[in-house]
Amino acid sequence: MRIPFIAGNWKMFKTKKEAKEFAEEFRTLYKDTDVRTAICAPFTQLDTLKEAFAGTNIGVGAQNVHFEDEGAFTGEISLPMLKEIGVDYCVIGHSERRQYFNETDETVNLKLKKLLNESDIVPILCVGENLEQREAGREKEIVEGQIRADLAGIAADKVASMVIAYEPIWAIGTGKTATPEQAGEMCAVIRGVIEELYDEDTCDRVIIQYGGSVKPENATEIMNMDEIDGALVGGASLIPQKFMDIINF
Ligand code: PGA
Repeated sequence: MRIPFIAGNWKMFKTKKEAKEFAEEFRTLYKDTDVRTAICAPFTQLDTLKEAFAGTNIGVGAQNVHFEDEGAFTGEISLPMLKEIGVDYCVIGHSERRQYFNETDETVNLKLKKLLNESDIVPILCVGENLEQREAGREKEIVEGQIRADLAGIAADKVASMVIAYEPIWAIGTGKTATPEQAGEMCAVIRGVIEELYDEDTCDRVIIQYGGSVKPENATEIMNMDEIDGALVGGASLIPQKFMDIINF
């Protein structure tokens, strides 16, 4: 009953010109499918992609948002600014933001509340353990802690409308993918925490993606895992044909 959802995360790649070129090629490859699709692009390319994907089912997402509407926050982008562009999704708490830009569970929680209470923009919440935590056997505890803290004070119906991406940090951009079993196991852990915090209905509805070196070669076995509803794709989403092959897993 959950619709598969494959999203691209371009990170800090592609100029406006490159984004236009991607969109043109991608539109020629894209056929309407039962799979939900979106590209999460740098802020300056969001309007370009909205325009290029008009009239298609391809969604457009941002990669961050501030939790205040406006103010003295140099370099930040607010929710009203994203709403004006009409973005469909917003990545929240990506490990690179947590690692390099002091994003904490507390700011992630504020951003999720902002999006969920004041817009229809669907958050893609990223969680995941690092290598040291995985090697110490603490991955479940870490991810469970993130989910509890990030979702604190958020109502069940809001959580049911969200997307959660399990992205083990050691598998991001490293070419080292979690095995489908590892990924499936952790997505099941996340679903279990959601059921414990909320109820069965919320747990059944929330979309859980896996992210970390997803490519056309491993997309099928990842997508075939019961608890995995989709993928958040970094590097492989930069090339139209590769991203399309993942969508057609
Ligand atoms: P990757 O990135 O697919 O390049 O590993 C995934 C992500 O960070 O979302």
